[in-house]
Order: sequence, then structure tokens, then C-alpha cells
Amino acid sequence: MKFRKSVAVAAAVAALSLTATACGGKEGSAGDKPEGPDSKDTKALSYTVKKDASVDSSVFKAAKKRGKLIIGAKADQPYLGFQDQSTKEYSGFDIEIAKMIAADLGFSPKQIEWKTVDSGARETAVSKGDVDFMIGTYTINDERKKQIDFAGPYYHAGASLLVREDEKDIKGPETVRGKKVCSIVGSTPLQNIKKPKYGAKVTELSKYSECVAQMLNNQVDAVTTDDAILMGYAAQNPKKLKVVGKPFSEEPYGVGLKKGDKALQKAVADAIKAHQENGDYKKAFDATIGKSGSEYKDPPAFTDPK
Ligand code: GLU
Repeated sequence: MKFRKSVAVAAAVAALSLTATACGGKEGSAGDKPEGPDSKDTKALSYTVKKDASVDSSVFKAAKKRGKLIIGAKADQPYLGFQDQSTKEYSGFDIEIAKMIAADLGFSPKQIEWKTVDSGARETAVSKGDVDFMIGTYTINDERKKQIDFAGPYYHAGASLLVREDEKDIKGPETVRGKKVCSIVGSTPLQNIKKPKYGAKVTELSKYSECVAQMLNNQVDAVTTDDAILMGYAAQNPKKLKVVGKPFSEEPYGVGLKKGDKALQKAVADAIKAHQENGDYKKAFDATIGKSGSEYKDPPAFTDPK
């Protein structure tokens, strides 16, 4: 993971990796919990790889030809999209959704090449074809639909606030006036928290783990993004961090696809629906974000495509 080269952040990171190493934990996690999210929770999950998959899509055909599917993912979101820095393995709910889709397209987990893509780089990575599709806490919205298409939503999150355990004043978005709040370039919660009605002093960084490091280091007072992401960090740092207030935005997650590739969009949507119906989706949820405290809800109805 790349951290901003400020001395303070570097110090926080050094402290964090020391803690992680001392506990035998993951270097990639900003956590004080010895047992962070672990791919062992998801090891038991597997999906039957279809042999005869065929989709009239140039992206799909190119992937078949190279024998690999290139999937954009997040690497620093515990229980959602997380890369273990020692094994380099990715785990989390979004990673399982990606494996389900890959299986239905005829690709085994070994035939997936993961590419870490941060929030602010997603539309470009998808539209330029650097990834075949993107699965990473990716909110479907009209602005993004000018550049790419989505399949989904497969999950509904909502923006919330992460604060230090001893924080007393911040209880929700109406209490952040004058407070330092960190969020991520190119993310919807950043746009939201910058609204004048909240009056927050906003710090913009490129990775959530950098915001969390700044908060543990007392440089900011809160981090805002989707509740599912923040709960993962709180679960990693149970004695230091907590999620407060109710979700204050709608964040429907979709798979980001090259604009106009209707056949692949439909194939991806059909794959997710099939795995929601056969119970794989619930099993994946329970083994990932269910562990950090997100409550299971029946999956939302698809809007893209209907
Ligand atoms: N779901 C929000 C978004 O797509 C925030 C999470 C993220 O940055 O990935 O912008």
C-alpha cells in the first residue's frame, strides 16, 4: 500500500506496521486486532466454473483469448476488498462477488488477475480497458454512467462516520461543523461531506487506509465513507475506533463495465442474480462483511439492467 509521504503519516504507518507485526497480523491492515480479516474465512467458498460460457462481448472475447480475466478491486478495505501484504491474496465480499461472476463466465479463481484501483481511478481504468470490469464498493450514479455502465445494484450501503473510541462530540453529519473530516478523492462520500450545510474541514486523500492512519494519529477527527467500509476498519481497531450515527446517503454498489457492452453487462447481472438465488451470496456475506457487523439484508432489485 502506498502512503502519502508526510512524516507524520509515515510515523503512524511505522507504528501500525509494528503493531501488526508484533501481533503476527497483516502489514496491509491498519489494525490492532491480532486476527484481522482472513482469507481463511472465505477458503471454504467455491463456485462451479462454467465450461461453455460464451458472451458476445469484445471484452469477454479478449479475456478468453488471454486466458485471464482482469478485475479491478480495492486492496485496503477489510472484509470487502483487502489484499494481505504477505500472501498478496485478496479477500472480502467484493472479491467473492467477483469470483462468482468469473466462474459463470468460465474463469477459475486462478484465472483472475486482480488489479488494485483506487476510488478516483475507477472510471478511467474501466473505460480505457485497463481492467475488464471493476468491483470495489462502487456506487452506481448518473455522473459515472456518462463514462461507464454498471451491473447492479448487488448491495446497498450508506455513508457514515468513523471516529476515535473516546470521541464525544461527533455523533452524525450534523455534528461535524468545524471538525476535520477525511475522505477520498473521487468518492461520493467526499462530495457529500463537502456540502456547506455540514461545515466540515475536509481532508482529501487517495486511500482510505491513509485517512484511518491520520485519525489514529490525531490529525483528523473523523473519516467518512460507506458504513460497510468503516465497520471493517472499526473491527480491525476495536479498542480505538467506532462507527457513529445513522447512514446519511444511498450507496448502491454495482460492477463497473465498459460503456455500451450490453452483452457483458447482462451476463454479469445474470451471474450475480444466479448466485443470490442459489445461496452463495448469503454465504459470502456471512464469511466477510457479516463478520465486521454489517447486517444481512435481502439483496436489492436490479436497476442496471432491469
Ligand atoms: N461507494 C462510494 C463510492 O463509490 C464510496 C466508497 C469508495 O470510494 O469506493 O464512491
